[in-house]
Amino acid sequence: MQIKVDCPQCGGKIIFDEEIEVVRCPYCSSTNQISGKSGLPRFMFPPRWSFEESRHRFSTLLSSKKSLRLREKGLHLVYGPYWRTKGMVFHWALGKKHSISKIGTRSWDDAKELKTKHFDFTFPAYREPDLGLDTLGVRPAAIPLQLFHHSRLSGTELVLSPEVSLQEAVDHSNNFLTFGFSDRNLKVELEDTQLVGEVYSLVYFPFWVLEVGANGQNSLLIIDGVANVVRKSIWEQDFAAYFRETASSKWASNFGDLRLIPFTCPVCGWDLPFTPDSKTHICPTCTRAWAEHRGSYQEVDYHLVGLPDEFDKPIHYMPFWDLKTHIRTSQGVLKTKSDLRKLIPALPTGKGRGNGSDSIRFLIPAFRIKNLKSLSKLAHIFCLSPPSQKLRAKENLKKEIFQGVSLAGQEAEQLAQVVLISMVPKYHRRARNLLKDSEFESGRPRLVYYPFYRKGIYLREANSNHAIQFATVVLNSHS
Ligand SMILES: [Zn+2]
Ligand SMILES: [Zn+2]
Repeated sequence: MQIKVDCPQCGGKIIFDEEIEVVRCPYCSSTNQISGKSGLPRFMFPPRWSFEESRHRFSTLLSSKKSLRLREKGLHLVYGPYWRTKGMVFHWALGKKHSISKIGTRSWDDAKELKTKHFDFTFPAYREPDLGLDTLGVRPAAIPLQLFHHSRLSGTELVLSPEVSLQEAVDHSNNFLTFGFSDRNLKVELEDTQLVGEVYSLVYFPFWVLEVGANGQNSLLIIDGVANVVRKSIWEQDFAAYFRETASSKWASNFGDLRLIPFTCPVCGWDLPFTPDSKTHICPTCTRAWAEHRGSYQEVDYHLVGLPDEFDKPIHYMPFWDLKTHIRTSQGVLKTKSDLRKLIPALPTGKGRGNGSDSIRFLIPAFRIKNLKSLSKLAHIFCLSPPSQKLRAKENLKKEIFQGVSLAGQEAEQLAQVVLISMVPKYHRRARNLLKDSEFESGRPRLVYYPFYRKGIYLREANSNHAIQFATVVLNSHS
């Protein structure tokens, strides 16, 4: 989805992808942080045609169908609000899988499958009346959206109120997360679904409502204002009656506003390095890290892992969330790595340190990885055998390359649950039972940058050589 905003410096129109955190104006080159993305932003589709254009085209249409003897009685622009839910779905299913061997014998074997998808789901946030459009389909991906604001309206439009609350929208979306994942050959005994990085927003969609009269009766044609096709015809009804009962919303004031704030370090005033898709920015001058929160910058604590001795390859600092976790199960709380062996018998407890009393920690990649299974795999290996965390001082950072943080800290815990199941052996029935009603309790996620270098088709962590395929990683687009 692309979003269109006005540059606060020069007023030029800036169009950017919704994943972007920092934008540069193509007209005046100023850079700005986008604030308010997580606070229920509202967007609108502008109608393809203006009011005058529409009136002209619809009256031409009516006069071409003379036999119907329809006369135009009025043209109205109506905006219907739609909820949009976006995120990444990780779905684990553990159970028995039916298979037929080459010689025709049937068997049910232990199975464990991870299914993933990008989730982009829209549905009406109004209940009444029916406008004949249940989903916006791919349109949010195809047409740039504008921020919804009353100043963009002429005042003659009817804007339907959202009646479906955020909680109802969350519940409704959750019903569709695993759509298309079912597998008749898998008897599921344990499943876990996580929607990670979810963003909820409201999108106002335009409809032209053409009121026509014939034989003393009024009827309504509801026309999609973007595709310009008739969505619904309602006979023997007039506009005022059909749109009479649109309840006003009690919680409309909870919506956030998207706006642009200057992209400079709040302490030393220098421009921050331009990494458009990062949620965290490290000021090379004073070495503090910042993340936008409700319209201003908040300092983020971070750590830099050092390099092995005499390491001289060029490196990228890749961000991870380090999460200290307790797992609450029906048979007590798992706190240490040796407790965790109840779920993962093969878990090493750490070289040399090892009395098994180390706390349970998950290291979740925070940089953008295109392939969701590669993401889960890298997190798995980092948790199973964490690389050395000998830290280096935060000095001389001007030449270092920091990759962007695209996963927020709060989302790391959901991914940790995905990773935990990835580590449980598929035949381990006791672990399945233990996991069934388990709950995670994590401390504050800690941001840690590990040094990676490129070798062949891989990016490798310099201390451990843990690798991820280079092609699946989205590196900063500097400019
Ligand atoms: Zn500008
Ligand atoms: Zn600074």
